[in-house]
Amino acid sequence: MGSEPGPGLAVPPLISVPPAGTRDVRPGLSGLSATDIESWFEDRQQPAYRARQVADHVWSAAAQCAAELHTLPQPMRQTIDESFRVNTLVETEVRAADQGLTQKALHHLDDGRLIESVLMRYPARGSRRPRTTACISSQAGCAVGCPFCATGELGFWRDLEVAEIVDQTRFWRHWLAGVGQRLTNVVFMGMGEPLLNTERVLEAAAAITDRNRFGLGARHVTISTSGVVPGIERLIDEAPQYTLAVSLHAARPALRDVLVPLNRRYPVDQVVDAAARYSARTGRRVTYEYVMIDGINDTIDDGNALARLLHGHLAHINLIPMNPVAHTPWQPSSIQRTEAFASLLRESGLETTVRRNRGVDIGAACGQLAADQAGAPAPAAVARRQQLLVVQSAAALGARTNTQ
Ligand code: SAH
Ligand code: SF4
Repeated sequence: MGSEPGPGLAVPPLISVPPAGTRDVRPGLSGLSATDIESWFEDRQQPAYRARQVADHVWSAAAQCAAELHTLPQPMRQTIDESFRVNTLVETEVRAADQGLTQKALHHLDDGRLIESVLMRYPARGSRRPRTTACISSQAGCAVGCPFCATGELGFWRDLEVAEIVDQTRFWRHWLAGVGQRLTNVVFMGMGEPLLNTERVLEAAAAITDRNRFGLGARHVTISTSGVVPGIERLIDEAPQYTLAVSLHAARPALRDVLVPLNRRYPVDQVVDAAARYSARTGRRVTYEYVMIDGINDTIDDGNALARLLHGHLAHINLIPMNPVAHTPWQPSSIQRTEAFASLLRESGLETTVRRNRGVDIGAACGQLAADQAGAPAPAAVARRQQLLVVQSAAALGARTNTQ
C-alpha cells in the first residue's frame, strides 16, 4: 500500500452517479464581485446606487429570489432575473432534528444535483457565547471515498460554483432572520473535499468574510480537509485566519490508507507537517478530527501513535463517535472506550474534546439525504464493500501487530 496517484479510491463508490440535467448559464449573483455588478449597471446607463441596492439585497438581506429585490423597479428586477440567478439553490427542503437544535437542508441545484447543509445551534456555555453554525458543502459528492462517510459512498459528481457555496450561507442567514437569529460561524464540513475545489472555496470564503459582503470574521470560518497537501500549502501562502481542521482518523499510515484513501497520495506525516506550518504562519491552533471506530482505530496503540504524531503541535483533537450512516461493517466506539482514548491523549499533553451526538457528527451525516434520493444500493454491492473493508482493515491491523 502507499503510492498510487490520484485520490486513489480504496473501495469503489457504492451508488452510481445519477444523470444530471443541463446547467443554467446565468451566473449566480453572490459569485460576482461588486465591480462586476457595477459594470453591469454602468453598461445599461444606470446610476451606481443601483449596484449598491443589489449588493444590500444579496448580502445584508440574503434575498432568495428576484421578487425580494424590492427597492428596484419591477422591469429592472425582471432584467436582473433574466441575466443572473439571485439564488443558485433552486429549491430547498429543511428538516428539523435534535429537538430543533439542528436543521438539515437538502438543496436542489440547477442541474438536479443535490447537496446538503446543516445548521447547528450551540447554547451559551460558561464564558462561551451561543453559536449558530452552518455546515456547508463544497462539492456534490466526493472523490476521496472515506468508507465511513455517506458522501464518500456517492463518489464525485461535480465541484460547486462559488455562488452555490455562498448561497448555502445566505440561505441560513435568511432562514435565521425569519426567527430573529444570526449566523455566527461557517464550517466547510458538509459534502465534498474543500481543498479539491480550492480556488472556488477560497473565493467563497473570501466573500463570506468580506465585511462588504457576507461579513463573518475569518476566525469564525473553518475549512476541514482530509489532507490535501497542495491545498494546505495554498492556505499557508495566503495565511488567512480561517481555522484549519484536518480529518486524521488514524495516525498509522497503513490504517489511514483504508480510512482516508487520500493518504496514499498525501501521507499523514506530510499532512501534519503542512498543518503545523499553517499553524506556525498564522498562530492558529489546528483542529484534528478523529472518528472513533470500534476496534479499528480506538486502541491504546492507536492512541499512542496519535500522541506521538501530534506531540508538541499546536493542536486540538476532536473525537467523534462514528455516525453509522455508511454501509460499513463497523460500529462506533463506546463512550467508555472513547473517554479512555481521550484520557490517554490528554495525559500526553494534547487538548482533546469528545463530541457526542451533535455537531460535526451530524454535519458528517451530510450526503445521507442525497444518497437516499439516489436510491438504495444493491445488497450484493453492499456485501462486497463490507467484505473488502473487513479484509483491508484486518490487513492494516495485522500490519500494526507486525510492526509495532
Ligand atoms: N472532506 C472534508 C470535509 C467534509 S467531511 C473532510 O473530510 O475533512 C467533515 C467531517 O465529517 C470530517 O472530519 C469527516 O471525516 C467527518 N465524517 C464523515 N463521515 C462521518 C461519520 N460517519 N461519522 C462521523 N464523522 C464523519
Ligand atoms: Fe470526502 Fe470528507 Fe467524506 Fe472523506 S469524509 S469522503 S473527504 S467528504
